[in-house]
Amino acid sequence: MDRPYVGRFAPSPSGYMHMGNLLAMLLAWLDCRVHDGRMIFRMEDLDTARTSPEYARALAEDLQWLGLDWDEGYPDPAYCQSNRTDLYAEAFHALEDRGLVYPCWCSRAQRLAAASAPHPGEAVHDPNCPCSRMTDAQRTARLSSDRPPAWKARTPDETFSVMDGHYGHFAQNLSRAGGDFIIRRADGVYAYQLAVSVDDMRMGVTRVVRGRDLLSSAPRQAWLIRTLGGTPPGYCHLPLLTGGKNGEKLSKRLGSRSTQAMRREYDPRALVGLLAYLADLLPAPEPLWPRELLPLFDWAKVPTEDISLENIPALSHIN
Ligand code: GLU
Repeated sequence: MDRPYVGRFAPSPSGYMHMGNLLAMLLAWLDCRVHDGRMIFRMEDLDTARTSPEYARALAEDLQWLGLDWDEGYPDPAYCQSNRTDLYAEAFHALEDRGLVYPCWCSRAQRLAAASAPHPGEAVHDPNCPCSRMTDAQRTARLSSDRPPAWKARTPDETFSVMDGHYGHFAQNLSRAGGDFIIRRADGVYAYQLAVSVDDMRMGVTRVVRGRDLLSSAPRQAWLIRTLGGTPPGYCHLPLLTGGKNGEKLSKRLGSRSTQAMRREYDPRALVGLLAYLADLLPAPEPLWPRELLPLFDWAKVPTEDISLENIPALSHIN
């Protein structure tokens, strides 16, 4: 029997949302609603040092302000990753029982990078990591004498592919291209890749819509879910919005103008219309609510190339 269509918003409350996040949320919502799906709003607040309840509340307000609703999730604490540690621990032990986990004492910078969604330029795995080749005796000795390690999943030398709803067939050799990856940091925090996979599996998510910077993570997430006995969701990635002087990807880290600032200047419908125009769902920006876009929504219209905000006069002051 076909599984019910279940989509999700899964933001990290590590800052205010910017245009790129909003575009992802809008397309995730349209994709779900056009299929009469159920929308889940999961708060990815696993790394409590880098996220805050204030940002979480602001994210929820932004979505409501834009007319993007959800059927279950935030503020229900069961949908906040910070409350789901037991589930991640269970999955961690299941992987451990299968001999797929090993400790790693490599640099701190690597560990920090691995707990959040990977972004370009963040090293997650060193293919020459000496920890992956230790004998059991070496590991035992080091575990009792050294500082706490991070823990990595050992990936098989196997090609795993996903059929992306927008970018098509995407295959990756898990060990050679993706590499072993951290599933638990040295400070005990479970890492993004494990948490997101466990949650998508346990929440019955059948469709993941998000920025294409995470396309390269899809094979390892699908592999983790299969290894844990679940059925991976369908993945569907969207182009990134680029802006600024050098055409970089917009991100909270690059200080792009936040939704909070935009809320003061924009009618939400005007912003929805701009986003729809950027995604080629409208020939020109025109104010409307997300539900008015449903009859116009079609992934075939959405570009696969990244979208530059630079030459869009209406947006020149947003970034
Ligand atoms: N929480 C991640 C982020 O905000 C997205 C995770 C995902 O969609 O898989 O970057």
